[in-house]
Amino acid sequence: MSDAPNQTMSPTIIDGRAMAAAGRAVLKSEVAGLRERGATPHLAVVVLGDDLSARAYIRGIERTAAAVDVRCTVHRLESSTTIVELTAVLDMLGAAEDVHGIIVQAPLPAGLDLATAGMHVAVAKDVDGVNPTSAGRLLLGLPSYPPATATAVMEAVRAAGVNLRGARTVVIGRSAIVGKPVALLLLREDATVTLCHSRTADLPGRAREADLLVVAVGRARLVGADYVKPGAVVIDVGINDLDGQMVGDVDFDAVAPLAAAITPVPGGIGPLTNVMLLRNTVAACRALTGLE
Ligand code: NDP
Repeated sequence: MSDAPNQTMSPTIIDGRAMAAAGRAVLKSEVAGLRERGATPHLAVVVLGDDLSARAYIRGIERTAAAVDVRCTVHRLESSTTIVELTAVLDMLGAAEDVHGIIVQAPLPAGLDLATAGMHVAVAKDVDGVNPTSAGRLLLGLPSYPPATATAVMEAVRAAGVNLRGARTVVIGRSAIVGKPVALLLLREDATVTLCHSRTADLPGRAREADLLVVAVGRARLVGADYVKPGAVVIDVGINDLDGQMVGDVDFDAVAPLAAAITPVPGGIGPLTNVMLLRNTVAACRALTGLE
């Protein structure tokens, strides 16, 4: 028998697509202003190998960039590229005056380490927060570009109207690109944060303590009704392929009736992430060109 609470409510669906469209409109007008003053924001995407999901992700970045008039160049390298070759490309992009943002498509092929590559992503152009210096700046509360996905999570939390000060928040997943930066950004907003992972004891019990539950694991529908306190806000970062269908880490149908607000998959954090990446690129362009 499930120990899931039986209280149901009609949740707010946090519409990432609509938020992304609004974000693109704002960015487009900001880019127009920069272009009028002679600066064209430019994002360089470095991708190794040619797998299908990376291709789809990069197409999404290119589409978003085109929609907001940001220049986007994709640097495709062989999956056999060595770390020396990769870092040479990153150093070249770091020195290029017309490039304002750099992203390395993860995951990298076996044998290449994102942290090592990240050290060669110029901090001033590190629009996805992979340089250890950017991560350290985030930890210390200094200005930096946090990873785009983590920023997208915070946008969704704001859209749901969560008052973070003193709120009990639980993040499931401790990756450097999602879970940890989300935890730091929540902490910055005075939330009380519990960071859970694959070794957490009684994960459903920990999750049920949350007023805000953020899930970034990569396990289809891991989070069921027994993980969720009635009235909680649930943010699902997961993108999983379940028999050809894209599903999140949260069992949406089971959890939505309990939640005050919830992100769908698809249509939640995913569409927002690219907009945050472009927003960071535009901010980097401003900072690098001095056009505040
Ligand atoms: P990682 O594989 O790097 O990290 C997964 C985390 O989940 C780890 O901390 C791991 O714990 C934890 N975990 C794994 N299994 C369990 C479990 N059974 N119970 C509790 N915790 C578990 O993944 P990412 O952070 O890169 O991505 C997470 C998800 O978010 C994926 O589905 C990915 O596709 C998606 N994603 C979506 C993005 C978007 O734009 N919307 C962008 C980036 C990712 P441990 O550390 O102990 O191993």
